[in-house]
Amino acid sequence: MQRIAFIGLGHMGGPMAANLARAGHAVRAFDLDAGAVAAAVAAGAQAAASAAEAVADAEVVISMLPASRHVEGLYLGGDALGEDGLLAAIPAGALVVDCSTIAPASARKVAEAAAARGLAMLDAPVSGGTAGAQAGTLTFIVGGEAAALERARPVLQAMGRNVFHMGDAGAGQVAKLCNNMALGVIMAATGEALALGAAHGLDAKALSAMMAVSTGRSWATEVCNPWPGVLENAPASRGYAGGFGNDLMLKDLGLAAEAAMSAGAAIPLGELARNLYAMNSAAGNGRLDFSSVVRLVAKDA
Ligand code: NAD
Repeated sequence: MQRIAFIGLGHMGGPMAANLARAGHAVRAFDLDAGAVAAAVAAGAQAAASAAEAVADAEVVISMLPASRHVEGLYLGGDALGEDGLLAAIPAGALVVDCSTIAPASARKVAEAAAARGLAMLDAPVSGGTAGAQAGTLTFIVGGEAAALERARPVLQAMGRNVFHMGDAGAGQVAKLCNNMALGVIMAATGEALALGAAHGLDAKALSAMMAVSTGRSWATEVCNPWPGVLENAPASRGYAGGFGNDLMLKDLGLAAEAAMSAGAAIPLGELARNLYAMNSAAGNGRLDFSSVVRLVAKDA
């Protein structure tokens, strides 16, 4: 049993905190939204009135916030939570794990500030979506020191199934962005291929079944097919509701573009995909599953 502070109890953080409580950890939960705190309490956590109160006697601090500015604001200060930032309130020796998807540069900045205070910090963004968060089957993609990861491992295993150590601080974020950039490109390409087939009168189900055992196969053909009616359980077959939001994919591709610029890396397809998801958002599909990007080339999908 560990004393864990959990900050950010949204779609992902809420079920993750619930799984930690279920595994027998003492979880003190905080979110700016009182309703999210109440839900965590119903799932077995203790409520904290502030982030500082949550971390007061914590051995492990976990955060799951929307974006870089929230993570920097929380830990480094300068936002509504107070000038000092939370790092100043975290007990010496505690381990800090940020699971949000943020810019690698932000992750490194916060980890350096934590190190300057003698705190070990990991960036541990996740893959697996809200279903994985609920089922406790997330994949953690980790950057930071190996020794810190070994301390975190039993806690991560209460929320997920796979843990990958990618390198030093920020490396978890870079790896997560690489995966999601490939996913974004592949989804758009698969939609385009199915639209081309449909334009020639092909049946999308038959085309997908062939592609799924051929060289064009991917998660997009087999699990989250973007064409309505091909896979019963895919978001496309329920009006693109649920799944991984177009706006979240757009956010991750924006982070990939920033990361590419900072390293001088060329990502021509990633940049193109970012524009496609931006167009899909502008068309009013931002909250739909990202496979709705197929609508850009197939109006009736
Ligand atoms: P969300 O918006 O549902 O939850 C974020 C929570 O953080 C909200 O409840 C908000 O009130 C809270 N919050 C914001 N600032 C805070 C602060 N300073 N102190 C305390 N609480 C604060 O977002 P989510 O879907 O849970 O995603 C969280 C992160 O996980 C994001 O970085 C996202 O990109 C990443 N992610 C999401 C998914 C997904 O499918 N939703 C999948 C993988 C990764």
